[in-house]
Amino acid sequence: MIKAVVGANWGDEGKGKLTDVFAKESDIVVRFQGGNNAGHTIINDYGKFALHMLPSGVFYDHVTNVIGNGVALNIPAFIKELNAIVEKGVPMPKIIVSDRAQIVMSYHVLFDKLEEERLGKAQFGSTKSGIAPFYSDKYAKIGFQISELFDEAWLDAKLDRILPAKNVLLTHLYHAEPLRKEDVFAELIAYREQISPFVHDTVKYFQTAVDEKKVILLEGQLGALRDPDFGIYPYSTSSSTLAFYGPIGAGLPQHIDEVYAVTKAYSSSVGAGPFVSEIFGEEAQALRIRGGDAGEFGATTGRPRRMGWFDVVATRYGCQVQGATHLVLTNLDVLGYLDEIPVCVAYETDGKRREHFPNITRLENSTPILEVFPGWKSDISQIRNYDELPELCKAYVDALERMLNVPISLVSNGPKREQILTRSPKL
Ligand code: GDP
Repeated sequence: MIKAVVGANWGDEGKGKLTDVFAKESDIVVRFQGGNNAGHTIINDYGKFALHMLPSGVFYDHVTNVIGNGVALNIPAFIKELNAIVEKGVPMPKIIVSDRAQIVMSYHVLFDKLEEERLGKAQFGSTKSGIAPFYSDKYAKIGFQISELFDEAWLDAKLDRILPAKNVLLTHLYHAEPLRKEDVFAELIAYREQISPFVHDTVKYFQTAVDEKKVILLEGQLGALRDPDFGIYPYSTSSSTLAFYGPIGAGLPQHIDEVYAVTKAYSSSVGAGPFVSEIFGEEAQALRIRGGDAGEFGATTGRPRRMGWFDVVATRYGCQVQGATHLVLTNLDVLGYLDEIPVCVAYETDGKRREHFPNITRLENSTPILEVFPGWKSDISQIRNYDELPELCKAYVDALERMLNVPISLVSNGPKREQILTRSPKL
């Protein structure tokens, strides 16, 4: 059984919480793309955690956590996060790392920072974790796979090929210090020491797991609209955020049985790029301070998130490109303060009403067409049975499901594990 939990929007939809809930019934939880450039917030019996590099199954001792070949592995961040959860009382989790995963080097982080500085106002809002330089190098075939760390002569020869080009950019484009071969070599050897206890042939591991009919959970990072192909390129990330990339980035070439796309009951986004249903000023702040578990501020960056009303056009498209079989609506409790709840039901682009999510240049010129739904004006966070939600609240969920045309099977009414309600879809 293979399940995927992925984002239907711009990221921060609450996937971490859902993965934590699903991990309970899973044997294996896998990260298949991205690096430590985004974070999941998980609140459980051990406390509150922002996971960036570790799969969300690390809190359960029956789960094997896998970092797949598609991940941008920042080894110091991985070790630091692992130590941090163990220090907070979590038993040492079972984790294996693919020998085909590639390594985020310190110079990837440096290039990310230098490039954003060079771009100045035109920057993409990178988290400066080195992710774009990392994936550029991976596909330019000048990255380092973990398996390469174990052959020093190979590393030595490879550095002679890579470093001259890096140093031309560093000294001439960015006016920075060049890299020294001995430093980079020492960095690679240090990584080898740190990561070797975790390294596995994960392709082989998954073959056996599939034969044994294990329950496997693919854990996506960011959301559909950050995908390099289907998202809002160039305000996208550098690896595919889609469920169907999951089996590739995991090292598990199999059919996915269930794709759970996650969306909030409103919109939020970190980073640059068009955001049609965005709201500003006091209206945004009122939503921001109530959102999530402690306001809508980035789990990795601490940046205030951009806020907006639920966007049917973007979310319907997000579900389509995710191949969603189910939709999970999170943060429904947050809307309890509103008399009326606006929803972006269509876009207006160049004077025309548009139901389908447009390409980037048209998106830039789109404005929201809003429809207003009555608010339920109450705190729903203590409710444990979907049927007990206020009628107006259920009507809001029904309306979203109708417009999105994807069955909403779970609704989250608070950040904690137990705040999840099972709903019978009406589709
Ligand atoms: P992810 O990257 O998709 O896991 O999302 P984040 O963890 O960055 O953001 C989701 C935020 O919403 C976190 O602060 C969660 O603790 C919080 N959260 C998740 N589900 C709910 C919910 O149903 N209600 C509330 N109030 N907060 C939630």
